[in-house]
Amino acid sequence: MRYISTRGQAPALSFEEVVLTGMASDGGLYVPEEVPTLSHDDLADMAGLSYAGIAFRVMKPYVNGEIDDATFRSIVEEAYATFSHDAVVPLNQLDANHFLLELFHGPTLAFKDVALQLLGRILDHFLQKRGERAVIMGATSGDTGSAAIEGCRHCDNLDIFILHPYQRVSEVQRRQMTTVLANNVFNVAIEGNFDDAQAMVKASFADQGFLSGTRLVAVNSINWARIMAQIVYYVASAVVLGAPQRAVSFCVPSANFGNVFAGYMAKRMGLPVKQFIIATNANDILHRTLADNDFSKQELVATLAPSMDIVVSSNFERLLFEAYERDGAAVKALLERFQAEPTALAEAPLARLRDSFASHSVDDATILEVIREAHHRTQEVLDPHTATGYRAAEQARSDAETPVITLATAHPAKFAEAVVKAGFPGVPLPPHMDDLLEREERYTVLPAELSAVQQFVAENRRS
Ligand SMILES: *Cc1c(COP(=O)(O)O)cnc(C)c1O
Repeated sequence: MRYISTRGQAPALSFEEVVLTGMASDGGLYVPEEVPTLSHDDLADMAGLSYAGIAFRVMKPYVNGEIDDATFRSIVEEAYATFSHDAVVPLNQLDANHFLLELFHGPTLAFKDVALQLLGRILDHFLQKRGERAVIMGATSGDTGSAAIEGCRHCDNLDIFILHPYQRVSEVQRRQMTTVLANNVFNVAIEGNFDDAQAMVKASFADQGFLSGTRLVAVNSINWARIMAQIVYYVASAVVLGAPQRAVSFCVPSANFGNVFAGYMAKRMGLPVKQFIIATNANDILHRTLADNDFSKQELVATLAPSMDIVVSSNFERLLFEAYERDGAAVKALLERFQAEPTALAEAPLARLRDSFASHSVDDATILEVIREAHHRTQEVLDPHTATGYRAAEQARSDAETPVITLATAHPAKFAEAVVKAGFPGVPLPPHMDDLLEREERYTVLPAELSAVQQFVAENRRS
């Protein structure tokens, strides 16, 4: 198994190289050259396996023997032992045919833990084998930073530097990052906004000279291993509901499209999926593209579901590559046009997307209404991201017979502000985090200057 770029001009890479690389040298994203298949029997054999057992089987062809089976199995088992629910990602039945897949039982209470608990361990394994160390840099306005820190805190060969905008993330989100006191974890509060932090990380990847040879690794959702890890819960939940005999639909609160693209990969592997429903907040580029063929950037809107606040959806490129029948040159031309001006997809690729995907956009007022309505109907308190999914599933499902699984991407305690606005007294943090507000914090405040940040990273990394 090799990995190829969506823009067709970068060299094909092995799994190990692709995990250590991030973005392709031609500006594209890596995808597997062939899609491995899960046969009817493969799926039937998964009934009754543990989550880690299913994860090992689903991911093994992507890893391509580059980690031996026994080692990979133990990496997977360790990664999912960090989840506080025995089922790892339990399915919660809301009504006759609507289910919530609870992806928030990991260390930081959002679905990004599913991929980042695994990715940190895979990176550490490869670096150990090569006798190398690496530096991770990332900018976060919320969930990714804390999940990356939790995923790397025990990794001997990694030092992680996460930039967040000073005084512009919620206290819970900041503390989930800054109370991890491991000696390879560095939190930097930038005196600027998220875009300033993001720009400094991008500039550091573009010119890595300040690290004098140490590898810089990306853990955002352009890293293939994150997609790979997320394929698993689509398979596991569909098997619980009767796959391969019965098809299901999925509704996915979406932003950078990493999550729902993983679902699409599961379908390509052979999982019977009737429909993918993309839920967006007011930042609705995905919905506008699918519904109106309006593939254009619009101003960022700050919403009650902040982890879905985006202007451009980076992983959508991976789906475009499939919709354009793997024509890298066409994808490159389309995305270059998109960067410059509002554009549209060609008719045939758009029709292919509409075969598998529907979409729906939910504004802030509706998010609050849905949190109240869902509680009234089901007793569940949804987080604002999951609320967009709940509404989109009901609005955009093609039929009432096929079970629909809405992905619950965060625990409501993590986004208490919206829950309180919806009229609830607040949601307690789960027991393993109930002292979060008392824990010791450690972070460094730096000006929004590239040289200051790079000097801090160069001086504090452990190699
Ligand atoms: C990251 C995130 C999303 C969006 O996921 P994508 O893979 O970027 O589409 C949705 N909800 C929550 C809570 C998140 O943290």
